Amino acid sequence: MTWEERWHPLREEWVIVAAHRQDRPWSGSTINKSAPVLPPYVSDCYLCPGNTRVSGAINPQYNQTYVFDNDHPCVSLAAPSDLETPPSLYQNRSARGVARVVCYSPKHNLTLAELNVDQIQQLLHVWEEQYVELGRLPEIKHVLIFENKGEVVGVSNPHPHCQIYATNFIFKTIETEARVSRHYLDQTGRVLFQDIIAAEQKAGIRIIAENDLAIAFVPYFARYAYEVLVAPKWQRRSLDTLSSIEVRDFASVLKEVLVRFDNLWKMPFPYVMALHQAPTDGGDYSGFHFHIEFHPPLRKPDLLKFLAGPEIGGGNFLSDTSPEEKAAELRAQSNVHYKESMK
Ligand SMILES: [Zn+2]
Ligand SMILES: [Zn+2]
Repeated sequence: MTWEERWHPLREEWVIVAAHRQDRPWSGSTINKSAPVLPPYVSDCYLCPGNTRVSGAINPQYNQTYVFDNDHPCVSLAAPSDLETPPSLYQNRSARGVARVVCYSPKHNLTLAELNVDQIQQLLHVWEEQYVELGRLPEIKHVLIFENKGEVVGVSNPHPHCQIYATNFIFKTIETEARVSRHYLDQTGRVLFQDIIAAEQKAGIRIIAENDLAIAFVPYFARYAYEVLVAPKWQRRSLDTLSSIEVRDFASVLKEVLVRFDNLWKMPFPYVMALHQAPTDGGDYSGFHFHIEFHPPLRKPDLLKFLAGPEIGGGNFLSDTSPEEKAAELRAQSNVHYKESMK
């Protein structure tokens, strides 16, 4: 039984770990785990090759990845700029930025977990290109690349894709990570994330996948049951600073994590995945260490982690599971995707 509070060094906040509550009686809503079997092409999918999108644009017959400007952008270089000035202390400004969509594959039914390591590596190059291209724009301070996967995180179209928000501000979590990493470097002369990796390697029990140049683990301070961080072992601020062998090793560790996720309950595992790369505002980010964060919303195959009083009302997480137990579950999974082994 794990019942304690753990310090989250990247967010500078406490996480309450109360794993003894995991089996408390539950009579609320559950999620139906059965996922529909999808065809490789759907004629009314706005992401499939050759189809017409809401904007009238027609998708090309792409055969690997496909990047386009979001037809419903939340930030845009064309956002209204003649804004009404709000009264008193309130502030506003133009919602400027670039929002894009990246399709992982022309196949409607091929998830990230099912791409092979070469294809994942190719996708990492696309992410790198987007980060560099958008980050270079003078107004863009940060490029957030993320994937929402599964209906439980609100994704209506299952065609595998991620989104890019390149914004005129730095997203809050990245800003916090950048600030605490800077502070840690100033105080200790060391890189915070390097010390986290070293601590995880020393403990060993939460590591999900590892090779020469990359590592993935459920962090000691996980807020979500199956939270996983994937990182290069050497300190790299962003994807464009990884060597080609580092990208290869990173893709391979990423693939293993995704496969273990899907194998856990033999279903496409829902998550919010975010790339945490250094801001592009020209600041000094020498203490920043690129990583990918997975925040899976499910605690059990049919049970969502609800964000409620502690998380929304108070701003700190209450975890009903122990990171060590959840890591053990993931470690016990095969690294061959269940769909592959059924063939
Ligand atoms: Zn599609
Ligand atoms: Zn992070």
